[in-house]
Amino acid sequence: MTIRYSKDTICVRSGTIIDAATGGVRSPLFPSTSNSYLDTAEDYYPRHGNLPNQRSLAVKLSHLEQGEDALLVGSGMSAIALSLAAHLKRGDHLVAQHPLYSGALKFITKHLKPLGVAFTLASSPSPADFERAIRPNTKAFYLESPTNPLLSIVDIRALVSLARKHGILTFFDNTLATPINQNPLLLGVDIVIHSATKFLGGHGDLSGGAIIGARHLVERSKGLVHDVGGYLDPNTCHLLERSLLTLSIRIERINANAQRLALFLNDHPNISRVHYPGLPCHPAHHIARSQMVGFGGVVSFELAAAIDPKHFQKRLRLITPANSLGEVVTTLNSPTLASSSYASLSKEQKLGSGINDSLVRMSVGIESFDDLRDDLDAALGNK
Ligand SMILES: *Cc1c(COP(=O)(O)O)cnc(C)c1O
Repeated sequence: MTIRYSKDTICVRSGTIIDAATGGVRSPLFPSTSNSYLDTAEDYYPRHGNLPNQRSLAVKLSHLEQGEDALLVGSGMSAIALSLAAHLKRGDHLVAQHPLYSGALKFITKHLKPLGVAFTLASSPSPADFERAIRPNTKAFYLESPTNPLLSIVDIRALVSLARKHGILTFFDNTLATPINQNPLLLGVDIVIHSATKFLGGHGDLSGGAIIGARHLVERSKGLVHDVGGYLDPNTCHLLERSLLTLSIRIERINANAQRLALFLNDHPNISRVHYPGLPCHPAHHIARSQMVGFGGVVSFELAAAIDPKHFQKRLRLITPANSLGEVVTTLNSPTLASSSYASLSKEQKLGSGINDSLVRMSVGIESFDDLRDDLDAALGNK
């Protein structure tokens, strides 16, 4: 299915429910959990995902990712867990990219084994290393690009073609790119996953996740969620639908700010390294260019040895040190400091994930570039 309209138009138009009572141009909210059943064939109920706000949001997200159907659940991690659980069974094997988002890594390494599903972490994102990891019972590749927090890039076309050759299903976390910058389904990926808690929600006030793809594939996860629960409730769907109205203009500004900040940091004497796929010095910049329209809002950088990560964050006046990402305001954190996503991993796991104590993950917002640059410059000190 190809959607004719541009993303800007899809953001504001797709899926909108016309209010029959008033002709209102915004989707009304239908929160009712009890619904009349006598003269209707359908059993309307939040856990069945068939309430109007659940459906209208699924339409908008399917259109944005060029998929046939979408399933909205309570968080990005539920989207990851429910999509894998719906497609993998005892005796199957999964090859996962490594490093990848810490929550996904934790789910794969901790929860698949008890379900009887084996896994291999590919030793690099290269197709050759994925190929080496394939076994006769390999059913799925689990992919993410750019990765959180190191912005590593995989060659989507190459991995999809390898997967297809072996009849392997591809799962792809598109959270950091957003559907504005990258559409993995158009490159042959089978199932796209999002944490809507991040850029899709974009205002730091909701939790959600999405599974998007061909109808028959999404249907498997739907069947599971119908029975175990976890559909996003209509109130949150309505809030997320409103957030998506401005997704394309938010991401346009975020892309531009992030690119300029990455260039600024790359030239800064107190920064030893910048991880951003939009920089020509990123090792997979050419691949990123071939599959992304813009490079997204997450810029990670390593502080020079003389700069203490905590002091640097305390000297910021505008940018907020905070644990999550994807908001209209610029936030940043040190993945290894207490309470952030990597703090609970062992030292070996951190090193294996390429994370060190000088690493800072910044999620760029829509403030003015000049204000963000000046804040970073002052907190870093000029030398
Ligand atoms: C945050 C995040 C998730 C998990 O999403 P939640 O909504 O926190 O469950 C998954 N993937 C990536 C890349 C993320 O950044």
